[in-house]
Amino acid sequence: MIISPPVITPSEPPSGAFLLASGLEARGISTGFLDLSLEFFNYIFAKIPEGRGYPAVKYALTYLRNNSNYPPGQHRTVSGVLNSALKSFSKGYPGWKISLMDLTPPSEVHKPEELLKICKREVTPFSEFWEEYLLPILKMHHPKTVLVSFSYLSQLPAGIDLALFLKTNGYHVIAGGSLLNSLDRTGKGFDLLRRVLPETVLGDGSLLRGIESTDNSLLSRLSWPYTLSSWQYISGSPIIPYTLSTGCFWNKCLFCPDRKRKLSIFGKEVFEEFIKTVPPSIMKRKPVIHLLDSTIPKKTLLDILPVLKENNLDFYGFIRPEKWVADQSDMLADHGCLMLQLGAESGSHSLLERFSKGIDPETSLEVIQSCAESGIRTYVYMLLGLPGETISDLNASVSFLQEAGNSIDFINFSIFNLPTNCELSDRADEFGIELVYDKDSENVIRLYMPFRCEGRNPRIMARDFITEKLSRLPSIEETLLRTPKWFRTSHFPLIEIPGRISHKPDLSK
Ligand code: SF4
Repeated sequence: MIISPPVITPSEPPSGAFLLASGLEARGISTGFLDLSLEFFNYIFAKIPEGRGYPAVKYALTYLRNNSNYPPGQHRTVSGVLNSALKSFSKGYPGWKISLMDLTPPSEVHKPEELLKICKREVTPFSEFWEEYLLPILKMHHPKTVLVSFSYLSQLPAGIDLALFLKTNGYHVIAGGSLLNSLDRTGKGFDLLRRVLPETVLGDGSLLRGIESTDNSLLSRLSWPYTLSSWQYISGSPIIPYTLSTGCFWNKCLFCPDRKRKLSIFGKEVFEEFIKTVPPSIMKRKPVIHLLDSTIPKKTLLDILPVLKENNLDFYGFIRPEKWVADQSDMLADHGCLMLQLGAESGSHSLLERFSKGIDPETSLEVIQSCAESGIRTYVYMLLGLPGETISDLNASVSFLQEAGNSIDFINFSIFNLPTNCELSDRADEFGIELVYDKDSENVIRLYMPFRCEGRNPRIMARDFITEKLSRLPSIEETLLRTPKWFRTSHFPLIEIPGRISHKPDLSK
């Protein structure tokens, strides 16, 4: 059995666990995929009383599940209702805070041993749910082994509690997932995690015992998995996670945590075969394919466009803002592209060049404008606080955003984090980076490390600049208001924006 523990947003299946179960299914190993995070949210929401003085949870869920297009204001309101219900629920567990995308435990989330102590000592927000919901499923299916899949830190507290519950009830537990891979490959503290979760499997799952995999990757053959959870996701259209590749064909950015990852591309045939296995009950609701690639490979995308069209599928995903995207945006839109996530990162040419990004602001601008004209939603990622960033670099980003104006539909401002292991941290001196080692960090797991440049933390300057300048640009104020804060990206392609293509499920089928 493959279980994805809470808390991960309940709008689409957790990609890592879902694809692992799909890869095993394609090899004749039916595992039973259980999205326990989705079921946990459904369990909590069902317990919230209806009526005056209580959040209108039922209305919010019905609204989000029965509509495939959300006006931004309404989306904000109903998401707020669900979050306030979660806030009320959290009050019953001092020190715990649960939201639609995150979880704060009573101790630091980066200290697995402390989390285990809490889970052993106290009733957690999950204890009753394990007993009432999970135990009957376990008793029905008698799994020989349960793989607990971790993708995000927000899953760690519940995942540790779950592993404890499973072991106490006599089940064999293995931990896996992208969080563990990242910690092992580019982070620090994998050994700390193994003290709490001693049996782990790394990689994409091909190393699991009993799998006779002659091909290199489990993702090279995928079939719809045997799912134990309901498909009661909080989304008007089913969102299906899928990836055309692992690794990155560019693979040159100096601060990329994934540089050591080998590039594998899974072509049109793999996708076509997978689509044939999607249940008719999902296909008739016109799913949206969420392409998870670090950056979607051009040729493979162009190859699968006819398959998407023939099957009446829409899609979205992350793409490098390269010239070909601007040239082909009409065709992409015509083949169901609802949104592209574009890492423009900075308006400063020299800054992008210094870190070998291989993109330039002029082309990014052309891509953004061209996609918007073709009706494709644009979700632009800006990265501030890079080592050596000057005020003139920041001002270049202001000009870039001003010029892009209303062509940007959604925006994400992130502040640079230095991966613990990457080419930039290895060559820190060369870039004027002073790595900061603190004693406290010995007992924590972490993916990033603190640093300074010329005695200052560039992250602070970046944070101030975002708050005081960038967020106040008139077009950006509007964009920020429109950008959903919850449900990760799953709902973004469904947000109604004048001039952009609407996702239209054919409900008559
Ligand atoms: S484009 Fe993204 S995934 Fe590729 S090397 Fe750069 S940071 Fe890494």
